[in-house]
Amino acid sequence: MGQIECSLPTMSWDFETEPEFQVHLEWMDDFVRKEIFPLEVLDVSHDQLRELMKPLQEEVKARGLWASHLSPELGGAGYGQVKLGLMHEIIGLSPYAPFVFGNNAPDSGNAEMLALGIEASGRNEQRAKWLNPLLEGSIRSGFSMTEPNTAGSDPKLISTQALRDGDQWVISGHKWFTTNGSIADFLIVMAVTNPEVHPYQGTSMIIVPRDTPGVTIVRDVPTMERPEVHFGTFGGHTEIIYEDVRVPYENLIGNEGDGFKLAQLRLGPGRIHHCMRWLGQSRRAFDMLCERAVSRFSHGSLLAEKQTVQNWVAESYAEMSGARLMTLEAAWKIDKFGADKARVEIAAIKFHGAKVLYNVIDRAIQVNGSLGYSCDLPLESMYRAARAARIYDGPDEVHKQTIARHILRKFQLSDPPSEYVPARRIDAARKFAEILEAL
Ligand SMILES: Cc1cc2nc3c(=O)[nH]c(=O)nc-3n(C[C@H](O)[C@H](O)[C@H](O)COP(=O)(O)OP(=O)(O)OC[C@H]3O[C@@H](n4cnc5c(N)ncnc54)[C@H](O)[C@@H]3O)c2cc1C
Repeated sequence: MGQIECSLPTMSWDFETEPEFQVHLEWMDDFVRKEIFPLEVLDVSHDQLRELMKPLQEEVKARGLWASHLSPELGGAGYGQVKLGLMHEIIGLSPYAPFVFGNNAPDSGNAEMLALGIEASGRNEQRAKWLNPLLEGSIRSGFSMTEPNTAGSDPKLISTQALRDGDQWVISGHKWFTTNGSIADFLIVMAVTNPEVHPYQGTSMIIVPRDTPGVTIVRDVPTMERPEVHFGTFGGHTEIIYEDVRVPYENLIGNEGDGFKLAQLRLGPGRIHHCMRWLGQSRRAFDMLCERAVSRFSHGSLLAEKQTVQNWVAESYAEMSGARLMTLEAAWKIDKFGADKARVEIAAIKFHGAKVLYNVIDRAIQVNGSLGYSCDLPLESMYRAARAARIYDGPDEVHKQTIARHILRKFQLSDPPSEYVPARRIDAARKFAEILEAL
């Protein structure tokens, strides 16, 4: 007897991870839980922490997983966004993991932007001076776009100017929320370089060493995440005044007017990585929710037996699964068609993912009661950090606007509505007139 031939068409879409890559993911999951989770609870300074991380970073490098978001020319593995997304889901389990895996913000995005700029401009000296040390982790960077006096959600309004004077740029402006600005070796400043044209063509990115005369580090802004006054520590969100700051023309990244293009290239895939890291965080909160539910007894039964708690388990699971699929689909679309073609998917998962993260942590705190609110569990700090996810890299409302505009563009005015039943009935009667008559 002959074999039955399978004539099903091949599908390019599936939910399986290649076995060789799955091995990496399993190693990473084990490594993050066993080696990185313990670092979170040590009472050590940032410099001590960096020392503690060094052997772990070496291990990551030895496995070829260091800075894997980079292209192979820059020492990365050249993984596409789907694989990177799956890795970031694990890296997101711990706020310390990105440092151990060589992809902590804002250095990772800044390195990518520098690399793109060097490719576009051919200004290769930036590679040795800024890019390579940044990739090695021997220097640090900040990204200076947001201003206190203009709406960061609409960077077309940026007021910081960089005017050309011979072979120099002269930069003046006021920025804040430049993450790591107070400890960065250099800052990438987004500034208007040609006020005569639309900001999309007249804005550029320029490298400014932090110790350049005219750069004043005002403060690290206390935030919901870190309300106490602090200065010059890792993760600070820095307010900076640039006053007649002079840097060489060659510090331009890419070409004049590339500012928005570079920002978009930096932010698109970066948002996918955020969303996957949020899923890692959500998963951790979810596990704390479930563990407490099966451990805490109240009013005659375990919390796990209360329908409200069961609802939270089910809703959290469904929300996380949905967000995961949306994120991986967006990643897949970036890989297949480019970030520009995946704008709607990226915007959708950015606001939705942030909400899912917030919901799951909130429920986990509720199930854990006073323990959840206390600093004896990591939920309270996760909750404070999660609130920012709805603001940075574009507030929810702006992403929703992008999606709605894109979708609504496909619709046309229709009066009466195209589904208006009386009109459809007349059309249908006309279409089937002959058959209906015969019947
Ligand atoms: C933790 C954290 C880290 C950050 N790191 C950096 C960094 O490293 N570098 C940097 O340059 N910036 C950074 N930012 C700043 C961030 O990019 C901005 O906060 C963000 O772009 C929003 O800008 P804004 O704060 O000026 O808010 P605004 O633009 O003033 O917006 C305020 C609110 O207005 C509403 N809104 C805005 N537009 C619309 C609209 N079209 N429709 C409806 N409502 C709207 C939204 O609710 C929004 O939250 C960081 C922010 C945070 C919280």
